[in-house]
Amino acid sequence: MAEQATAPSIIDGHRMVGAGERIDVVNPYSDSIIGGTAEAGADIVARAMRAATSASAAWSDVPVADRAAILDRTAQQLEDNGPAIAATVTDEMGMPITLALATQSDLPVRVLRATAQAARDFEWSRHVDGHRLDHMPAGVVAAVTPWNMPVHQIIAKVSAALVAGCTVVLKPSEATPFDAVEVVEAFEAAGLPSGVLNLVQGTGAVTGSALVSSPGLAHVSFTGSVVAGRVVSGLAAHNLTRCTLELGGKSPAVILPDADLDVAVAGALKSALVNSGQACNATSRMVIPAELAGEIEDVIRRCAESFVVGDPHDPSTTLGPLASSRQLDRVVGYAQAALGEGGRLVAGTGKPEPGSPGCFMAPTVIADLPATARAVREEIFGPVTVLQTYRSTEEAVALANDSDFGLSAEVWAGSRPAAEAVAARLNVGQVKINGARTREHPTAPFGGVKNSGYGRELGSAGIAEFTEIRAVF
Ligand code: NAD
Repeated sequence: MAEQATAPSIIDGHRMVGAGERIDVVNPYSDSIIGGTAEAGADIVARAMRAATSASAAWSDVPVADRAAILDRTAQQLEDNGPAIAATVTDEMGMPITLALATQSDLPVRVLRATAQAARDFEWSRHVDGHRLDHMPAGVVAAVTPWNMPVHQIIAKVSAALVAGCTVVLKPSEATPFDAVEVVEAFEAAGLPSGVLNLVQGTGAVTGSALVSSPGLAHVSFTGSVVAGRVVSGLAAHNLTRCTLELGGKSPAVILPDADLDVAVAGALKSALVNSGQACNATSRMVIPAELAGEIEDVIRRCAESFVVGDPHDPSTTLGPLASSRQLDRVVGYAQAALGEGGRLVAGTGKPEPGSPGCFMAPTVIADLPATARAVREEIFGPVTVLQTYRSTEEAVALANDSDFGLSAEVWAGSRPAAEAVAARLNVGQVKINGARTREHPTAPFGGVKNSGYGRELGSAGIAEFTEIRAVF
């Protein structure tokens, strides 16, 4: 990425820079401006909508096999350019490069290939009870994505929408506009016709709102905060535009007494701290047996100290900076409030790391909080985990389900049947047993219940989101 570059909007294959306010992109490790973008106003959004609408009929007529082949070729492009794309994400938001390679390069490649295969296997038409059901492309899709796993979030939406025969207007986070340009360029190089995928850059308040309010949109696929999700679905409702909402989480890691504690605690803490805790499915609550709390806290302290905090471009770094100083202030605020509400520090300080460059905070684990504490109930989106103790399996399940969110959960147990018995009672979109990883299952449906949103991404469920059903008889 060139210094002080400007990330353009891309419409019908044309690069353009909005006339609106300039938005700086700040590297959270060096605290320097690495470039920026400019707000695409209503005029550019309308142009993108026109391009996507004009391209819609021809694209929906392209055979599924040919649409899937474009995903495969895009996967090859991303694979070839993987290290550069991962480095862009590291510059934009501070993700450690080793994690960026795994989640913003390797994972998108696997999702593209898996979605192409899911489309080839998808039952686009079937006969039921004397009539035929066809899955039709929904039409023009708005894809609105966050900064925390930026390339993965774009690919999860765009790959499914395109292979379903929809055209797309993408609005990435204003904090990560450069990787979005690289993704669109990969689709272009793979032969995607102009106008099928368009990119508008800018903030949610201006560019995002204009996009999701556009008449003629068939579907809004949104990933982000609960607050923005409520606004987005409200704006879309004016035009009766359907939404998929992938929102926040407060995911529990339930550790059963017979689990291998060293493995379970290390694994659950790693899931809590991945991407400095800036993951929607981070296990930010550890639900542990009361009788083993002392032993578990010892393991937590050992594991927390083993994280390598530092330059995110160093391959050995396992904990990078938070994505911005604003995010750091917010997370520190939550940790300090928790200590004010009676919380006890098991690891970390709940404060910014002294003397380090960048927006760093060491892993912070807090025990003894009441179930009503904000740090127990609200998404913090930082390296802060709370411990909740239980005395029976019944209580473990009740604590795990006592949340306004329902995105994901982990269960750690000595045996698969015991873990399955708990998993069957968790009201969440995904349960991972004994260290299973979301990223190893690129077709497993991803999404939540309650305030975590509705609808699913990935695999055949993700493709179906972008279709409408027609019955013919
Ligand atoms: P955010 O809600 O601030 O922004 C997300 C996107 O929405 C950005 O592109 C933003 O510009 C846009 N936006 C904001 N307000 C808008 C509006 N009024 N109209 C249209 N667009 C608008 O979230 P963020 O800070 O970028 O990301 C962090 C949040 O995303 C966390 O809450 C996290 O849990 C959530 N998230 C969820 C998932 C999931 O799949 N469930 C995955 C990753 C992140």
